[in-house]
Amino acid sequence: MAGRLAGCGKAYLPATCGEEKPALKGRTGAAIDRAKSNSPNKQEVIMASERTFSIIKPDATKRNLTGAINQKIEAAGLRIVGQKRIKMSQSQAEGFYGVHKERPFFKSLVAFMTSGPVVVQVLQGDNAVLKYREVMGATDPAKANVGTIRKEFAESIEANSVHGSDSPENAKIEIEFFFKPEEIVD
Ligand code: GDP
Repeated sequence: MAGRLAGCGKAYLPATCGEEKPALKGRTGAAIDRAKSNSPNKQEVIMASERTFSIIKPDATKRNLTGAINQKIEAAGLRIVGQKRIKMSQSQAEGFYGVHKERPFFKSLVAFMTSGPVVVQVLQGDNAVLKYREVMGATDPAKANVGTIRKEFAESIEANSVHGSDSPENAKIEIEFFFKPEEIVD
């Protein structure tokens, strides 16, 4: 199933639904780029820095959890290089979650995401997409690992405190949906 972010004009590769995402499809170890140093006998391993998109959802902003969530993000070695608190509009929420528009929870999800302030973020670091998915935990907090954001803070499968991109390609699209280049400073 492929969707399209409203107003984005680019193909949007949807998140799969339900369980915690396994290792991302199509990742070929590109995050680890081997480069030879000046010495012909030495090899240097360079970890590729990556960006991902995050949302701290209304259930979390309502309970004053932005700082606690940011602490977990930073403790995992991810740098918050863009951040703003916004009220998501109906059309932004419908566009952002357009891939889920046929699902029974779509209307409720859009209502939830527009019910209060959210904090949209750009996170940067080695393997940021996968790393943040690990820090977040499974979609359903009942299935999330101990120590993850969703295990500690989520209220339900819908009000699950955070969003994180599920692939580098979607991260780029989602970041461009909410941020101007000059709003990201690394
Ligand atoms: P994520 O990538 O882990 O956020 O999960 P998905 O892409 O599958 O779903 C997007 C969002 O829709 C989730 O984060 C939840 O807020 C919501 N959601 C997913 N599954 C359900 C569900 O079964 N019921 C309800 N009410 N909301 C859901």
